Amino acid sequence: MTTTTPDMETKSFEADVARLLHMMVHSVYSEREVFLRELISNAADACEKLRYESIARPELLGDDPRPRITIVADADKRRLSIEDNGIGMNGAEMTEALGTIARSGTRAFMERLEAAKGGEKAELVGQFGVGFYSAFMVAEKVEVVSRPAGSDEAWRWASDGKGAYSVGPASLEDAPQRGTRVILHLMEDAVTFTEAYRLEQLVRSHSGHVPVPVSLVEKPD
Ligand code: ADP
Ligand code: MG
Repeated sequence: MTTTTPDMETKSFEADVARLLHMMVHSVYSEREVFLRELISNAADACEKLRYESIARPELLGDDPRPRITIVADADKRRLSIEDNGIGMNGAEMTEALGTIARSGTRAFMERLEAAKGGEKAELVGQFGVGFYSAFMVAEKVEVVSRPAGSDEAWRWASDGKGAYSVGPASLEDAPQRGTRVILHLMEDAVTFTEAYRLEQLVRSHSGHVPVPVSLVEKPD
């Protein structure tokens, strides 16, 4: 459980993000499984960034030097988390990375998606790196809890993908020891993404090349 503190700030997505989210959620249902590939790829990037930073600052690795990605599936709570022990993000970085379209690739994708029709849309989603926002194709709410490497502060970002998000401090107990946990509160019709065989199959087919070990934990409770 993450706790909402009084310091949480609510902000609006950049207009382009809101538009992209709307388009993705409404037009590319058939390709929505790509969210897992995207979140695993972000987790692996975060591990790689930490590895690079730790060359100059080995203390960042603490007593946890091996990169790892853990998927936790909880069917009863209809929740799926993707967690890494990578570089992490603070609140300002969350606002920048998860509230704007900083990347030219995403902007190009959005323009193509707007121009595309029917089946072409699904194809585009498969081809492009759709990125973090693809989480909203399967989740009615997304929470991100992160503790940057070397920091004794944790941060939380949350959104229902409908125009606004909140960001602010989180308590350390709710955060990973280091790195980022992305918690997907799955839509009712996306609960299949808590099934172990489905997740294993997706990891194998879309994330087989990822240089960080991915493990799966099922959490019935
Ligand atoms: P890209 O991966 O191409 O940069 P994304 O939309 O997938 O674009 O992610 C946007 C940004 O969010 C990343 O560049 C990174 O800064 C940040 N981010 C997303 N997931 C994580 C994570 N697990 N750990 C650290 N930063 C992350
Ligand atoms: Mg990415």
